[in-house]
Amino acid sequence: MDSLKHMVAVVGAGPAGLFASRFLANNGARVALINRDIKPGGLAEYGIYKSKIKMKKGLRKQFARILELPNLDYFGNVKVSGGGPIFLSDLVDMGFKSILVTTGAQGTKWLGLPGEHLPGVYHAKELVFHYNLLPPYGNRRYLLGPEVVLVGAGNVMMDIAHYMIRDQKVKKVTAVVRRGPGDIKFTRQELEHVALNMDLQSLDAEINRVAPIIKAVGQDIDSVKQSFQDGLPKALEPVSSTNLHFNFLASPTRIVGDWTHGATALEVEENTLVQVEGKTKPKSLGTKKLIPADTVVFAIGDTIDKEFALPVDWDSYAVNPEPTFPVDGVSYEAYDPDAKTPIKSVFLAGWARLASHGLVGDARRDGENAARAILQYLETVSATENIEATYGNFQNWVAEHLEQVVVKEDLLKLGNAELNKLQSLGLDDFKYAANDEMLEIIGK
Ligand SMILES: Cc1cc2nc3c(=O)[nH]c(=O)nc-3n(C[C@H](O)[C@H](O)[C@H](O)COP(=O)(O)OP(=O)(O)OC[C@H]3O[C@@H](n4cnc5c(N)ncnc54)[C@H](O)[C@@H]3O)c2cc1C
Repeated sequence: MDSLKHMVAVVGAGPAGLFASRFLANNGARVALINRDIKPGGLAEYGIYKSKIKMKKGLRKQFARILELPNLDYFGNVKVSGGGPIFLSDLVDMGFKSILVTTGAQGTKWLGLPGEHLPGVYHAKELVFHYNLLPPYGNRRYLLGPEVVLVGAGNVMMDIAHYMIRDQKVKKVTAVVRRGPGDIKFTRQELEHVALNMDLQSLDAEINRVAPIIKAVGQDIDSVKQSFQDGLPKALEPVSSTNLHFNFLASPTRIVGDWTHGATALEVEENTLVQVEGKTKPKSLGTKKLIPADTVVFAIGDTIDKEFALPVDWDSYAVNPEPTFPVDGVSYEAYDPDAKTPIKSVFLAGWARLASHGLVGDARRDGENAARAILQYLETVSATENIEATYGNFQNWVAEHLEQVVVKEDLLKLGNAELNKLQSLGLDDFKYAANDEMLEIIGK
C-alpha cells in the first residue's frame, strides 16, 4: 500500500469501469468503484441475452477476480449525481485526484412520434432489463400481444425478436427497417437464434419488392438474400410457431391505438434509397401504410443519462476534441463545449463516452485505455501524502452519509445465496430481481 500515490474514483461497474479499475489498481492507484446497481457487471449482467449463460458466467468470474484486488473497494447501490446521494464535487473534495465516469448509456432514444406513450409501446431496453431481472424492471408486467412490431435493424432488435419468439412465443414478429435488407446491422450469430422462424416466402417477396431500389444504389440482390440464408445452417431448432417477417424501407410515423387497451398498429412512411455524398440514405416517398401491432418495441439505440451533471454531445458525454492525454489518438477527457475547456480530472470510457458502441471487449479496451490516459494525467499532479488517512476519511464519510451500501463481502454473501438457490432449484442460472430481497440476504 505504501507505493500507492493517488486515489481514483471510478463511477459505474460495467465492463468499462471494472477493467479500468483493475488497470488503475495494478498501477499504483487506490480505487473506489462506485456503482448504481447492487451487483457489478452493468449490461454484461443485465443486457447480454439471458440464455448466453456460459458467456455471462465467464464474465462474472473475471469481475469477481477484479474485485479481489486489495487496493480496490466496491460501493454498490450508490448512484453518483443525477439524483443520487453523492456528487462529483464530493469525490473531488474528499481527495480523489481523478474520476472516471463509466456509467454507460442509461437513457433511451425515442423518435418523438404521436402514440409513443400508449400502453404496449416500449423501448427495447425496458424489456432487456425485464428479462435479465434488473431491479425494478424484473418484477414489472409488460403488455405483450400476439402481433409484435420491432423497430430497428441491429443486434438489440434481434435480442428482442429472440425473446418474443423463443420465450413469449407470440404469433407474429415484424421487424420494421428504415433502410433496405442490405443495410441490416445484426450478426449471423444473433439471427441463428430465430432464423428457422423466418417466413422465407414473405422474406423473398419483400426483398423482391424492394429489389429495384436497392439495385439502383449498387447493392447486389443475391448477396443480400445470402446474408439471410447464412443464418439457416446453424440455426437453433424452433420452439414456437412464431412467424418472423421483415418490412424494409419504412420509417415509423405514428402508433395507432387506444389509451386503455394499447397499440393496434404502427403507421409507417415508405422510403426509397438515395446516394448522398457517397452514402446510402433513406428518403421518404410520402406514402403511408399501417402494420398491425399489439406491441411496438423501439430498438433504435441508447443515450446517456442526461440527469448526470456532465455536458452532453449528441447521445454521449462531451469529449475534449483536442486531448492533452490521448491514447492511440483517442480522447477520454470530459469536456465543456460552452467554455471550450476540458473538465479537469474527469475522464470518460465505454458507452458513456460513445453510446451504444461495441461489445464487452470494446468496453474493456476503452476502460483500460481511459485508465492509461488517467495515469498520464496523474503524473502531472502531486501525490496524496497520507493516502490511507485520506481514503479512511472517505470511508468514514460513506458510512455516515450513505445507506445500504453494498461492499465486496456483501457480494460474496449474495453470490453464495444465489448459488444455493440455483442448486436447490436445479436451474442453470438464478438471480434475485428485487433490491429488497438482495439487501435482506446481505443483511442491510
Ligand atoms: C441488449 C444488449 C445486448 C448485448 N449483448 C451483448 C453480447 O451478447 N455480447 C457482448 O459482448 N456485448 C453485448 N452487449 C454490449 C455490452 O453489454 C456493452 O458493450 C458493455 O456492457 C458496455 O459497458 P459499459 O461499462 O460502458 O456500460 P454498462 O455495461 O452499461 O455499465 C454501466 C454501469 O454504470 C452504472 N451506473 C449508471 N449510472 C450510474 C450512476 N449515476 N452512478 C453510479 N453508477 C452508475 C450501472 O449500474 C452499470 O453498472 C449488449 C448490449 C445490449 C444493450
